[in-house]
Amino acid sequence: MSLTPEKLKEAFEKAGLRPYFPPDSLPALAPFTSRMLQINEGLNLTKWTKDEEVLTHHLLDSAWVLPLLKPLAAPGQRWVDLGTGCGFPGAVLIAAFPQVEVTLLDSIAKKTKALEECLQAAGWSGRAQVLTGRAEEVGRSSSTRESWDGVVARAVADFRVVLELGIPLLRTGGYLVNWMTEDQLKSVDKSQRALELLAGKIVKSEEYRLPGLHQRRYFVIVEKLGKTPQAYPRAAGKPSKNPL
Ligand code: SAH
Repeated sequence: MSLTPEKLKEAFEKAGLRPYFPPDSLPALAPFTSRMLQINEGLNLTKWTKDEEVLTHHLLDSAWVLPLLKPLAAPGQRWVDLGTGCGFPGAVLIAAFPQVEVTLLDSIAKKTKALEECLQAAGWSGRAQVLTGRAEEVGRSSSTRESWDGVVARAVADFRVVLELGIPLLRTGGYLVNWMTEDQLKSVDKSQRALELLAGKIVKSEEYRLPGLHQRRYFVIVEKLGKTPQAYPRAAGKPSKNPL
């Protein structure tokens, strides 16, 4: 793996995304990613392992949201990457928003343990954290329910499921940002009931394309308009078994 800080800077520069990172915060993404790929040799974290793939599918795909996120993520806020897996898009938020406290949440302990090591490699242990647990439980627990200002989620589940897992984590007025493929976007049409039950409103849906790829992709942003009824999220497993 030779994804050096220089290569990374060059790729972000070319994509016009360099200005979204404070000076000197971008290089740490290189050791984060390298450590993740090293651990990936023994533990299945990601299918993307070549430099170009990792750059496009993890780093640039995560960072493409920054122009939309910049006006939403204010200093002092707390954001959570729901179903972070190998640490994306969360790692890019950590680099781009040093004054935002980012939580990387995943239900699989092996993954969150690996991410602890990645955070350490990047020198980020002090200002980002990992949380092991199912989003259903984190969303039902009084200590964590409605305690984040923002949620990001990529490749986690059907949109209706992401809504039920993500919205309860947010304070009223918070935002949920979901990455979507063209196929996944179709499920947005079926999400009206879930949005009503969870007091969410789609405030933006934006198409984007990554360099060198032909697929259309989308960011869908949901604002939380009011408190989540106690019934949600339902018990672990129910949201995906029987989406709202
Ligand atoms: N966001 C990453 C990983 C996607 S894979 C990326 O885009 O590459 C989806 C991840 O979500 C898996 O790691 C899985 O363990 C986690 N996940 C799925 N359902 C979850 C739930 N209910 N609570 C917490 N994590 C969940």
